Amino acid sequence: MKDHPSKEQTLVIIKPDGVQRTLIGEIIKRYERVGLKLVALKMTVPTKEMVEKHYTLDPEWRRITGEKRIKAAKEKGEVLDTEDPYEITEKVLRVLKEYMASGPVVLMVWQGAHAVSIVRKITGGTEPMSTDVGTIRGDLVLDSYSMSDDDGRAVRNLVHASGSVEEAQNEIEHWFSTNEIQNYRLVGEEILYDVNLDGILE
Ligand code: ADP
Ligand code: MG
Repeated sequence: MKDHPSKEQTLVIIKPDGVQRTLIGEIIKRYERVGLKLVALKMTVPTKEMVEKHYTLDPEWRRITGEKRIKAAKEKGEVLDTEDPYEITEKVLRVLKEYMASGPVVLMVWQGAHAVSIVRKITGGTEPMSTDVGTIRGDLVLDSYSMSDDDGRAVRNLVHASGSVEEAQNEIEHWFSTNEIQNYRLVGEEILYDVNLDGILE
């Protein structure tokens, strides 16, 4: 069972704006009701060092985040100060550290089938203004790249969610020790994963 898809784990962080907006319960509810299992949870005020390490665990993150901003600008006909993805991300990282270290955050590990992609889908895309209705970032907040650029700050989008299985493993190790992650069974998991579904009828 060790490598069964139902054992996949992902990291979610309710960012300082999510805590301040008193959306902890609403956000947890959305991951919980899809069938995922909460296996670790804690609140902390992250240091800037921990935040920088978290985002740079993936050596490709700087390039990808810069390119995503360039693509969004092209789609909206916006002109950016620079078209160098690394220069863009240098600024992003600076304001992101301010944002993430500004107050308590809630760190969580969620487990279940396709946990990484299911959580990303429920979370929505980076920019709240353009992401889908029905997602956390689409339903519960209204920020945009252009407004955050004008104000020289990070996009406030309530949550972080790991981008890939590998990223998730590294991020979970970064924030949690193994004894903080619980191994337990939920009764309701049988209806999601049990092969035979016997034992329902009396
Ligand atoms: P995601 O959180 O959707 O995976 P990234 O990993 O690319 O997005 O970026 C991390 C976080 O940095 C985002 O969630 C957002 O808070 C902030 N951010 C990303 N790109 C920008 C940008 N161009 N301007 C301001 N803030 C940004
Ligand atoms: Mg990311």
